[in-house]
This record gives sequence, structure tokens and C-alpha cells, in this order.
Amino acid sequence: MAFNSKDTAAFKGVWVFCEQRDGVILGTGYQLLSEGRKLADDLGVELCGVLLGSGVNEQFAKALGGYGADKVYVCDHPLLKDYTTDAYTKVLCDLVEEYKPEIFLIGATNIGRDLGPRVAARLHTGLTADCTHLDIDVEKYKAFLKTTSTIDVDNTKFEDSKNLKMTRPAFGGHLMATIVCPDYRPQMSTVRPGVMQTAPYNEETAARTQLVKIDVQLSESDIHVDLIEIKKSAKKLVDLIGADVVVAVGRGISANPKRGIEIAEELANVLGGVVGASRAVVDAGLISQDHQVGQTGKTVHPKIYVALGISGAIQHLAGMQDSEVIISVNKNASAPIFDASTYGIVGDLFKVGPMLTEAIAKYKAAKA
Ligand SMILES: Cc1cc2nc3c(=O)[nH]c(=O)nc-3n(C[C@H](O)[C@H](O)[C@H](O)COP(=O)(O)OP(=O)(O)OC[C@H]3O[C@@H](n4cnc5c(N)ncnc54)[C@H](O)[C@@H]3O)c2cc1C
Repeated sequence: MAFNSKDTAAFKGVWVFCEQRDGVILGTGYQLLSEGRKLADDLGVELCGVLLGSGVNEQFAKALGGYGADKVYVCDHPLLKDYTTDAYTKVLCDLVEEYKPEIFLIGATNIGRDLGPRVAARLHTGLTADCTHLDIDVEKYKAFLKTTSTIDVDNTKFEDSKNLKMTRPAFGGHLMATIVCPDYRPQMSTVRPGVMQTAPYNEETAARTQLVKIDVQLSESDIHVDLIEIKKSAKKLVDLIGADVVVAVGRGISANPKRGIEIAEELANVLGGVVGASRAVVDAGLISQDHQVGQTGKTVHPKIYVALGISGAIQHLAGMQDSEVIISVNKNASAPIFDASTYGIVGDLFKVGPMLTEAIAKYKAAKA
């Protein structure tokens, strides 16, 4: 029978596209599996990973189970070695048409932002791009709204359905919008890298994971572009998302930006971390965009986040407020960043920053 995305009852299960590059699975895949596990449990269905590539390493595929996948669909074909929109779209659409998942999550990476909408359009279903929060359970969704919105949740009527509630920033980040796709399946969403937290790896579930090898139907004639060369960026981008410690600078460094960034680098070095920044610093051209933390930058969950001369605008907080420990240095005692901080130091970052570096270096030397 022809595939019909309107036949919602025919669809079951939660899928996660686990993107790999050069055979290495990106962290977004693990984050989405960890989140997908919760959604699948709320629905009482299976969670499946989908892995496309050439010469796929079965150990890597099996490891996806350690983050929650009950099953992994492995699509191995020479033409899937490097990403092309045509090949990946065809293989994913064939898979969805055969197995019919009700939810399909894709990381909002460069590849995911290209692939997700193409797959959704071809399957004739909806996709919510760049999501930062997902819910199935209405009570959990209400609890989320209570902590993050001004909605009078207790006096608002909510439809009690098992549709996926996909929340994302809208209108340039001034509003959060929750979008549902009630009439078509799969319900598709691209999710911002770094927003969902990776669950601890579980060896027992990894051992139980079932690998399903797909007989991929793909030929040169399915691909309408010639991949001539892949040029990797020569510049190494800062790994904010994977860092345990982020030392971020804000407009407070304006009096001497070069020294301000140096101070952050010195503190980051002694703590084994990396340097982040507020958008004000990025917009002023003082540091490159890959350092930006916040709603239009990266979302980080480090063990320690140090904010030097950052006021704590809501768009900045959106990217770092889940850090385990937040230490802020600001010369304005009423800066909003202090409300979100574990420790606050009222003072000049040009003085306090080097003092912190020196004290930590001394402490480490004494312990060594
Ligand atoms: C749609 C939209 C998206 C946005 N996305 C982002 C985003 O992703 N990330 C982001 O960061 N912002 C974002 N913003 C911008 C955000 O609203 C703020 O403008 C920005 O975060 C302010 O950066 P800041 O804290 O560095 O600067 P300011 O708000 O100017 O704060 C500077 C702070 O430094 C302190 N200070 C000054 N000198 C010193 C000193 N010597 N020592 C110590 N403290 C000092 C001041 O007291 C002040 O609190 C966005 C805005 C919009 C509208």
C-alpha cells in the first residue's frame, strides 16, 4: 500500500538520526538518544537509532544502545560515505516509509538543517526546526511552562494528547513557541546541538541493542550532484559544548579587550577549560562567533562557568544557566547575572581575573 503520512495510527516508535562524520558519531546523536529515551518511555514504545555511512563500525552502532536505543538501523553503502542531500534523503525516506516511526529527531547541525526539511517535505509531514525542548506528557509540559513562562498554567486548558510538543525560540528569540503536528506522521524536529543532556553510558543496554542491517537501495543515478572535494576548515573551532570549564567574557572587557581576553585565556588554561563570550563581544568583532554562548550561540552545561563582565541578559542565560557551578565577576552589584550565580564577586575583572588564576595555580602547585 502507498505510504500515507496522514494515517497517524499506522506509525509507532521514536527515531533518532545519529550523524557521523569520518566514521565518528557526533555528540548530538547521543544527546538526542538520551532525550528520545524519555519520550519513548512516555509513549511506551521503542527507541531506534538510525546510522548511515560506508563501512559502519558495528561497535559504534551497538554503543548507541548505551544511550538508550533499543534498536539501531544500520544503512551501510559506499555512496553514503560522505553526506549528500540526495542520497541521505532517499535512504531515510525509504526507511521511514517501510518502518513508520511516529517521531523522528535530527540534530540541528549543518547537515541536519539541510537533511531534515528535505526528508519532511518528501514524506509530506511537518518539521519544527531548531527546537530547544520536547515533551510528550502533558503534566511534564505544564511543569516546564511553570518554570519557564509567564502562562497561568493552572488556569489554562491543555489538550490531553500524546502529540509531541516541540518548543523553540520564535520572533527573534523574544517568544518561545510550542508547535504540534497532530495530523501527519512522523512528527519531525531538528534539535539544537548541546541543548539536551547526554545520559550516562549504560553497558547493559548497549549489550542488548539489536542491530538491523538494511539492504540499501541506492545508485549513482539517485544523486544529482558530484562531490568533487571536501575542504575542511583550517581553523580549529572552540569546543564549547564538550568543555568541562568555560570562562566567558562580556562587554566588561571593553576598556582593554585584548587584555580582557588574555585574562580569560589564562584562567581557562589553569582550569583546563575554554574561552566563551557574550554576543556583545562577538558583535564587536573582538572574538569569533564560535565562542558565543546563548540563545543565538551555543548552549553549554559545563561543570564550571565563569562569567567575566557579563550582565546576564536572558538571551545569554538561556545558553549557560544549567551549568553546575556559575562564578560571576561584575563591578555592578545588581547585575542580573548574580541571581543565576553560585558564587558572585563584585569587582573589576581586570583585577579579580588574574587573582583567581594566581590562586588556582598556587593551589594546584601545592597539591602536586
Ligand atoms: C534575539 C536576540 C538574541 C540574542 N542572543 C544572544 C546570545 O546568544 N548570547 C548573548 O550573550 N547575548 C545575546 N543577545 C544579546 C543580549 O540581549 C545582551 O545584549 C548581551 O548578552 C549583553 O552582553 P554583555 O553581558 O557582555 O554586555 P552588557 O549587557 O553591556 O554587560 C556588560 C557587563 O559588564 C560589567 N562590567 C563593565 N566593566 C567591568 C569590569 N571592568 N569588571 C567587571 N564587570 C564589568 C557591567 O557592569 C555589565 O554588567 C541576544 C539578543 C537578542 C535580541
